[in-house]
Amino acid sequence: MDLEQLRKTAAEVVARDDVKYLIGWKKGSYGSRVAPAFVEDAASVIELIFSPSCTANLATYLTLVEKTPLPRGQETDKRKVALMAKGCDSRAVVQLLVEKGIHREDVIVIGCPCPGMIDQSLLAGKYGDTEERSEVRWNGKDFTLVRGGDEIEIPRNDVLAEKCRLCRHPNPVISDYLIGEAVKEWDPAEDSGVGELEAKDVDGRGDYWEGQFSRCVRCYSCRNVCPLCYCQDCILDRLNPTWINRAVNFSENTAFNISRAFHLAGRCIECGECERVCPANIPLGKINRKMAREVREKYGFEPGLDPDAEPFQASFKPDDPEDFIL
Ligand code: SF4
Ligand code: SF4
Ligand code: SF4
Repeated sequence: MDLEQLRKTAAEVVARDDVKYLIGWKKGSYGSRVAPAFVEDAASVIELIFSPSCTANLATYLTLVEKTPLPRGQETDKRKVALMAKGCDSRAVVQLLVEKGIHREDVIVIGCPCPGMIDQSLLAGKYGDTEERSEVRWNGKDFTLVRGGDEIEIPRNDVLAEKCRLCRHPNPVISDYLIGEAVKEWDPAEDSGVGELEAKDVDGRGDYWEGQFSRCVRCYSCRNVCPLCYCQDCILDRLNPTWINRAVNFSENTAFNISRAFHLAGRCIECGECERVCPANIPLGKINRKMAREVREKYGFEPGLDPDAEPFQASFKPDDPEDFIL
């Protein structure tokens, strides 16, 4: 990544009168972690970075921050928001456009071709979890961890995030500015997680998910981080009728997780954020990727690629035989 080009572009964008701020990444305060940066003026673009630690999908802020209720008397800020977006993040932007969750004229996409991101838990497991400031860099084929004056070469597959092993779209699918050159795409790995589940019989799958969903603490981090979980009136918050009871037990936890998976069918862009933030380490990606694969293989549809596409769950074919309707 050409940081100079990124910062120059960012400075140009935030200097515009019709731009509110740019959402990107900056160095964090713990180990090699990074933090979201809300850059409002050209002087602050120096904070911006793009590194293998920028795993998070910042597209969620387009609906999380921008749609909050305003204090009485406060006018809506109609200026554009600029967003740094990797391939998966850009797919979230496209899906939001398809659903009219955001409008094209309200967002400026700074496309960041992505060579693959690290999984911080894999890094911590192999190289220790330490507060000491460090940095992970791409070094062509693999990664380099720069810590305490040492440079440690890390084989790519030791710490590559699962979503990146499986990635089919590392280059931004939509952008107003592209930083650097498109990366060469790689063959996605076999999805062994979904494959193992498919190999189980119905009882085996039931036992597997009972073991997983029983551990859910209903913190709703998965919902809150998801760029496509942005309904203002979420089924989970409803009291009358109470679609999903607040009791934390296997039955209600399953109702929650299954409802969420179905609400994301044909919409999830496989950014892996829900699984990344789950404090119970529930492999939510397996559900989402299974649903995505079904939609891809059975209906030939992949969300977040075409801003002019029909929303999957809101489209039909007039000549659909509809044999299932009695
Ligand atoms: S899923 Fe693809 S675009 Fe997203 S972080 Fe991984 S390699 Fe980059
Ligand atoms: S993030 Fe994990 S623990 Fe929290 S509600 Fe979602 S599945 Fe349950
Ligand atoms: S369900 Fe998970 S993987 Fe899919 S878009 Fe939402 S956060 Fe990303």
